[in-house]
Amino acid sequence: MIDVLIIGAGITGSALARELSKYEMTVTVLDKEMDVGNGATMANSAIIHSGHDPKEGTLKAKLNVRGNALYDVLEKELNIPLLKTGAFLVAHNDEEKATLRTLRARAKTNGAVMEEISLEEAFKAEPNLSRDIQEVVSLPTTKVTFPWEVALALMENAVVNGVTFERGQEVIAIHPNGGTFTVETTTDAFDAKYVINAAGVFADTIAGMVETHVPYTIKPRKGEYFVIDRREKGYMNHVIYPIPSKAGKGVLVTPQVHGETLIGPTSLTIEDKTGNNTTAGGLNWIKNEAKKIAQNIPYHKTIRTFAGIRPSIEQYDFYIQESTEVPNFYHLGGIDSPGLTSAPAIAEMARDWVLSKEAFALKTHFTATREKITPFRSMSDDEKRAAFQADARYGKLICKCERVTEADVVNAIHRPIPADSVKAVKKRTRAGAGICQGGYCQHNVINIIARELSIPKTEVNYYNKHTNILVRETKEARHDV
Ligand SMILES: Cc1cc2nc3c(=O)[nH]c(=O)nc-3n(C[C@H](O)[C@H](O)[C@H](O)COP(=O)(O)OP(=O)(O)OC[C@H]3O[C@@H](n4cnc5c(N)ncnc54)[C@H](O)[C@@H]3O)c2cc1C
Repeated sequence: MIDVLIIGAGITGSALARELSKYEMTVTVLDKEMDVGNGATMANSAIIHSGHDPKEGTLKAKLNVRGNALYDVLEKELNIPLLKTGAFLVAHNDEEKATLRTLRARAKTNGAVMEEISLEEAFKAEPNLSRDIQEVVSLPTTKVTFPWEVALALMENAVVNGVTFERGQEVIAIHPNGGTFTVETTTDAFDAKYVINAAGVFADTIAGMVETHVPYTIKPRKGEYFVIDRREKGYMNHVIYPIPSKAGKGVLVTPQVHGETLIGPTSLTIEDKTGNNTTAGGLNWIKNEAKKIAQNIPYHKTIRTFAGIRPSIEQYDFYIQESTEVPNFYHLGGIDSPGLTSAPAIAEMARDWVLSKEAFALKTHFTATREKITPFRSMSDDEKRAAFQADARYGKLICKCERVTEADVVNAIHRPIPADSVKAVKKRTRAGAGICQGGYCQHNVINIIARELSIPKTEVNYYNKHTNILVRETKEARHDV
């Protein structure tokens, strides 16, 4: 019997798994995907918000501010990337200036840091700000991270500390057995004392397997983006927020940890929970909105567009509480923005709920840190020489755009959560994330995965089970690697 079973290995489930791995209990995480962070965690703005925006007194306000502070701890312990950009919140007219006054008061109540800055100072710091802007405030604690990697770091550390991560396990039924549960997946069944639902856009589907009246309905809300090439790094150094509206935070300009700039997102409620396509209408709308806050946007350097889906619900706030119908089943529902920021604080809240049920002791040997992984491209010349001398595979460039070597790819394949698909390698190493989007390196990555795992190339998947890129050999295979 497992003590705690978590459904979903996005940022919420991964943060919780790591938090619970500090205690003497058995924890298993199930995800239908073959890797962590393939849901909303994979496709968002990547901002660690300051907490100026959520309504006063809500869980969103409280967990956002606490989560923002906890990211600084995670940076030290797990070596996650964290870009201390700060942000500017900009107003264009009297109406927006009035809202800015409300937000000043809200930031104060929420405990978020907001500072005054003159227009001159703001334009000097960011020459590409729109000159239509009439007032700016600064949010110095706003940061940007790489959400995939945070989820991975959390889950890798959880696994090192004894958590079991079961990939490719889609939950299809949950049977309450008078206080405990049997959780059925497409291939297995797991018995657990406590079940925590962190299934993102599918949280209501999971809850419906246990409850007669699910207290929330997910209304998937799509956000589309442009990604501007990292060769335009420095186009904007702060996150730029317009004044928020009922639809959300609006179209932002967001520098990313690897140098790209995101322009977006849209905010459109859709029916299909998996409908993450981009649209001409959405992208055109972004262009119209973005020009209100920024000028000279280098759209001609767009390397890709993408969309993510927010697990929004009718209620404004996150739905975090034990089921009122079935004891020992706990909801982490409606985790839309600022869910990425709040995840470490949501994990603390869920941890306290578990501990209120049963007094699990803290482990005497908990490994809080994660080995720093320095990719070849980030090494100094001396480090590169030493790495090459120790392992000649550092001398073989697999991805020229992002300067990823064969050794980087091999290391990723053999980490505690293995990168055994093309996308998993891309997420960990950036092979395929650059300007050619994998055109040059993809066949090399397939060859290396096949070789390292001793499987045929036709069994190497793009991201999930049955997503193989190659179906059969049509001519003699290339042996680049
Ligand atoms: C466009 C957009 C912009 C955003 N920007 C920001 C931002 O800048 N800052 C911020 O703080 N937040 C932001 N967010 C919100 C943030 O991305 C989410 O709150 C967060 O990623 C939610 O994480 P999660 O782990 O709860 O859900 P997810 O990441 O969706 O994870 C849920 C997991 O559950 C798994 N799952 C689902 N069903 C099953 C099943 N039946 N069996 C097994 N596993 C299952 C999925 O495979 C998935 O891995 C944004 C979101 C979007 C979409």
